[in-house]
Amino acid sequence: MQKIDENLTKVTARVQHAAHQAGRNPNEIRLVAVSKTHPAGVVAQAWRHGQRCFGESYLQEALAKQSQLGPLEGLEWHFIGPIQSNKTRAVAQHFAWAHCVDRERIARRLSAQRPPELPDLQVCIQINIDQEASKAGVSLDELPDLAHQVAALPRLQLRGLMAIPAPSQGEAQQRASFARVREALEALQAQGLALDTLSMGMSGDLEAAVAEGATLIRVGTDIFGPRRESRSTDGNKPGP
Ligand SMILES: *Cc1c(COP(=O)(O)O)cnc(C)c1O
Repeated sequence: MQKIDENLTKVTARVQHAAHQAGRNPNEIRLVAVSKTHPAGVVAQAWRHGQRCFGESYLQEALAKQSQLGPLEGLEWHFIGPIQSNKTRAVAQHFAWAHCVDRERIARRLSAQRPPELPDLQVCIQINIDQEASKAGVSLDELPDLAHQVAALPRLQLRGLMAIPAPSQGEAQQRASFARVREALEALQAQGLALDTLSMGMSGDLEAAVAEGATLIRVGTDIFGPRRESRSTDGNKPGP
């Protein structure tokens, strides 16, 4: 438990260092603590340490954890797993953010199913930045049409892009992938979309992501330790 506090402090220090190296303000970078496969107790522990954003990839597991924890002041749930049609209702009802939207049909369902009494669902479009067959996400060619479609839907707020680069050979390669994501965001901004989020960077590559403009990083292992069990990830590899 003590360890989680130390780990959060260390990850925060890494983000700050990477931000300073890049001449960026560390306050523009939000840390999502990825708690998938870890029990509700460690989420509560991180929350007591001041962590507020948590990421989950497996819907049933996430819903169980949410009901175990109940409402905790300021806690914000991010769904970072792939979203099939049969999951849209629960994602729309139980999460503040959805990071992996990659089809118009899914976005339409989230929009229709977002309860009107909740704030708009915050959405990122996942791009398959290294064109891996095993990974979800739209191609850069498909991105502009999808972005304009999603941006027009009620009860969703399109915030930006999310990507997981190919398991990497080194920092230069990581940065090249992240730079393509940033350029894609800039191109959409130039087309008039008001986007502010680059969801990229995990335990192994957060420095490269911050150097290329990440505003939201998703870190699991370096906060909570190795994942507790291996599970099928239905097409979205959990990371390198
Ligand atoms: C599991 C997961 C992470 C966290 O990865 P770590 O390498 O454990 O930090 C980040 N993003 C997504 C989409 C994930 O599924």
